[in-house]
Amino acid sequence: MLKLPIYLDNHSTTPVDPRVLDAMLPYFNEKFGNAASRNHAFGWEAEAAVDQARAEIARLIHASAREIVFTSGATESNNLAIKGAAEAYKDRGDHIVTCVTEHHAVLDSCKSLERHGFKVTYLPVDRAGHLSLERLETALTDKTILISLMAANNEIGTLHPLKEIGRMARKRNIVFHSDAAQAVGKIPLDVEEAGIDLLSISAHKMYGPKGIGALYVRSKAPKVNLKPIIDGGGHERGLRSGTLNVPGIVGFGKACEIAREEMMPEAQQMIKLRERLKDGLLGRLDEVCVNGGGERLPGNMNLSFAYIEGESLMMALKDIALSTGSACTTASLEPSHVLRALGLDENLIHASIRFGLGRFNTEEEIDYTVGRVAEEVTRLRKLSPLYAAAQRAGRASAETVS
Ligand SMILES: *Cc1c(COP(=O)(O)O)cnc(C)c1O
Repeated sequence: MLKLPIYLDNHSTTPVDPRVLDAMLPYFNEKFGNAASRNHAFGWEAEAAVDQARAEIARLIHASAREIVFTSGATESNNLAIKGAAEAYKDRGDHIVTCVTEHHAVLDSCKSLERHGFKVTYLPVDRAGHLSLERLETALTDKTILISLMAANNEIGTLHPLKEIGRMARKRNIVFHSDAAQAVGKIPLDVEEAGIDLLSISAHKMYGPKGIGALYVRSKAPKVNLKPIIDGGGHERGLRSGTLNVPGIVGFGKACEIAREEMMPEAQQMIKLRERLKDGLLGRLDEVCVNGGGERLPGNMNLSFAYIEGESLMMALKDIALSTGSACTTASLEPSHVLRALGLDENLIHASIRFGLGRFNTEEEIDYTVGRVAEEVTRLRKLSPLYAAAQRAGRASAETVS
């Protein structure tokens, strides 16, 4: 039986996996200790659980446990990485390189640094959302101290070539940070192989709880220095003070363990469902454009349905949870800066819908979604004089050709 509403907004957040919840529950009351309490069994029990989770998180990205710093999520991790590295390396230079399609947590951290005298280069992307490695190379100067480029985009799913970027950064002794909130647990990631120095992770994007995340901070040579942005009791090697969120950390660890074991078959399943969705919609509707190209996150599909408003479509589709690049639906109230960076026409930005597939979606849900979206797009287009005019023009030109 199909259960409504259907959740297809897994890039915004994911449900906690039941196995993750089970692992967390004892740590709210039964095993409630403070992991920093060194003098009794309650503290030791909590600390042991944190150690185990830390090891699981590290293992998923091929890091060492001591390189994992717990934060409240990827927003904080991005702030700590960018502001913390800028402060630590400001004697060496004042230049940072990032990209226009980054998450606001990265862009706004960079903007904040600009107000403090740092210079930031925002690399452009092409129509598919890819950056040019040549352009990156020419942007680097002897004053560049940090490159911040995401692993996978949260709107269009585009993957950046981390290995090539990492090699470029390492050769020049530049710190390389990557926001991997969408990538960790979905695609294989190896911080050693990719030459990543700082990596942001968020548990709630990978079937863990909200409010917990991590920053991987390279401590093997070449070791990365960071200045903390939160001062206090000296937790997390002094990089992030504050009592650890033990239940959250335990859940985060369990989510990483599950991802490590199930990621590959799950990615295949996501790709199958995503292609079924895309083929279904492209088979039933004309004038649909796929936003973002090339290799993408397994669960991502971003489509623009020309001649309709994404917001009207979402209103009509109350039984399916989706997201649009159009304005007024996000905290920022701005149309998508990512779709704009692709050079997408303003109308197509407003006509965009992000489908974010996840672990718990079924083929039946995808088929229902294809049917409902096709039905509503067709209905809304019938009300559009522009669509009718385009159809007539299309027919006329087809007649002239034949
Ligand atoms: C969700 C997300 C964030 C923010 O993560 P929080 O844990 O919610 O703070 C940052 N970057 C990307 C790419 C994201 O998808």
